Amino acid sequence: MSHEIRTPMNGIIGMADLLSEADLDRENRHYVETIRRSGEALLTIINDILDFSKLDAGKPALHAVEFVLEDCIAAALAILRPQARAKGLWIDLEVHGPLPARVIGDDGRLRQILINIVGNAIKFTTTGGISVDVSAEARADGHLLRFLVRDTGIGIAPDRLAHIFDEFAQADSDTTRQYGGTGLGLSISRLLAREMGGDITVTSTPGQGSCFAISVVFCAVVETVTAPPASPSIPEPAAGRTVLVAEDNRTNRLLVRKYLEGLPLTLLFAENGREAVEMTRVHAPDIILMDMSMPEMDGLAATRAIRAEAAAQPRIVALTANTFASDKAACLGAGMDGFLTKPLRRGDLLAALAAPGSS
Ligand code: ADP
Repeated sequence: MSHEIRTPMNGIIGMADLLSEADLDRENRHYVETIRRSGEALLTIINDILDFSKLDAGKPALHAVEFVLEDCIAAALAILRPQARAKGLWIDLEVHGPLPARVIGDDGRLRQILINIVGNAIKFTTTGGISVDVSAEARADGHLLRFLVRDTGIGIAPDRLAHIFDEFAQADSDTTRQYGGTGLGLSISRLLAREMGGDITVTSTPGQGSCFAISVVFCAVVETVTAPPASPSIPEPAAGRTVLVAEDNRTNRLLVRKYLEGLPLTLLFAENGREAVEMTRVHAPDIILMDMSMPEMDGLAATRAIRAEAAAQPRIVALTANTFASDKAACLGAGMDGFLTKPLRRGDLLAALAAPGSS
């Protein structure tokens, strides 16, 4: 189901994104912006519900990989900073004591929890800001990582505190009208934290703010670091590259073409995996954007076929509506170098094309 729901959302949000860059009068710009914002809001709800139904069905939700802890925290906060800035709120990150630099765990799920909790803190705060304190404690079974997320927001009434982690539960009936949301974010986050050997708890004072304590247990890969993470910057893709887009959906091909319009790149298109393999032989592209589900030969099979050939190897980035960690693992396992999820955003696409190894 997840592919069938996300693919049309990709078309809606992507096309509205493109239309919003066109020369529109005030009224039409307002209409397009509304379509785009509603699309994004609907997608968040769909993602929550799909995710929850998968978690609730008891399917394995975690995929452990080795990753750089500070990058994961920085990526989560980088996504949220524009929202905080737009509301005039500060976000402060403080690392207490040494943190393991590299850990083994599910980075996507940790980022998801942080985005959820810090995102809520931004959502329910109008003045002041959010502080995130991170610390680690070595234990027999790995490192216990603790994140304290404090906000200066509306707070939560004592009689509602115990219920906010329930599925589809919000602090009061006015919340949906005023702030939106599904009431699923906290239940998903706590489920994931518990799966990771930790938990999420909360203390709060109405009118003063809330403090969410997140803990997870990850295995550390030696070394230590104390410096707070640096904000990632997005470089421009290098000029003169050949980019092959393997994608069966016409709307998605048009979207990528439009996103990359005007850049000094050569763009080629394949409509299925078999064509992608043949075009790679003939044109030796530098980068391939590879859709996962295509007719005749899917993206995973096409990647394996390309990796099996002796010719100069392109960088292959998955382009997919499947956002679960297991899908990412399958892509990387087939020999892909990166992973972009739909709905595709122009900034993410440019960052992937400019990533190390693609120039
Ligand atoms: P959603 O935010 O989608 O409604 P969540 O499960 O993330 O769902 O949160 C459930 C409820 O808990 C929210 O609707 C809100 O009432 C309350 N809540 C969560 N985080 C905060 C916070 N930082 N400050 C105040 N209330 C919060």
